[in-house]
Amino acid sequence: MTVPDTMRAMVLEAARQPLRYMQMAVPEPGPAQVLIRVRACGVCRTDLHVLDGDLSEPKLPVILGHEIVGVIVGTGAEVRSFAVGERVGVPWLASTDGSCRYCRRGQENLCDKALFTGYTVDGGFAEYALAHENYCFRLPEGYADAELAPLLCAGLIGYRTYRMAGEHAERIGIYGFGAAAHIIAQVAVHQGKRIYAFTRPGDVAGQAFARRLGAVWAGESGERPPEGLDAALIFAPAGRLIVDALRATCKGGVIVCGGIHMSDIPAFPYRLLWEERVIRSVANLTRQDAEELLSIAPQVPIKTHVQAFALEEANEALRRLRAGAIEGAAVLVMAQTDD
Ligand SMILES: [Zn+2]
Ligand SMILES: [Zn+2]
Repeated sequence: MTVPDTMRAMVLEAARQPLRYMQMAVPEPGPAQVLIRVRACGVCRTDLHVLDGDLSEPKLPVILGHEIVGVIVGTGAEVRSFAVGERVGVPWLASTDGSCRYCRRGQENLCDKALFTGYTVDGGFAEYALAHENYCFRLPEGYADAELAPLLCAGLIGYRTYRMAGEHAERIGIYGFGAAAHIIAQVAVHQGKRIYAFTRPGDVAGQAFARRLGAVWAGESGERPPEGLDAALIFAPAGRLIVDALRATCKGGVIVCGGIHMSDIPAFPYRLLWEERVIRSVANLTRQDAEELLSIAPQVPIKTHVQAFALEEANEALRRLRAGAIEGAAVLVMAQTDD
């Protein structure tokens, strides 16, 4: 595989501006890095939060995109785990220091010095991308590139969020039935859980989609489900959903917020939290989350529902994601000319 000198990329130069389509130099891998020919890259709500400045410390200019599927075309001198020609996935967590107090106690997702793909290092809205070999993952066979992309963020964050619901949770509400929900609902149903899907008011298509994926009930976010929930997973970025979810949970219910950014949570009476209900967030992912989900995926088997866009259509994909006009997950699929 010959690697050209330049590549096409969609670049964020400043917050709240459209991405710019440009030619730039193909990056050189550092000693522990691999160079990846990107084949597909998912488009995620977090990309919108970077674009909008809600996540306020991007490296600028930056190439967005943290659900990268591609093939290794170059390796740094110290790379031992991967070889040219292997298909890998790259998630949001780009690297950690391995030495801070969080890393030492197995919470690398909270690392003080973590770097993030498509935010503090360049991501996958481009023909090529770099990744640290320790933060790349081999991908299951039998899936097309675009089908795997949503597993790498929506799937991983969804999986971590689902794990935090606890093993005893049997009745699980999911608020916001987008990319993460459509993946994790399949895992949950496979593991014998009962899924209750909550969509924005009037989203009949979203409710039908959730039922097709095995939800036992689907309704609007303010509605009470027919049974009290053991856990609620919140993937939509609206703080009021936490209060809706508290009203829908049983004693000991756990509310897990999967989003990286959320609007303010309205005040609510303490009785809604009483009886050991818990509200928590999840941040980022660990490599263990990735290894677990990628091994579970072919067993379920998880089927992802994707809408494909060309690289240069990234702004349109982001616009539709913002409008709630994507069913499943949006994925940029790169034109492959030489392989
Ligand atoms: Zn650390
Ligand atoms: Zn994401």
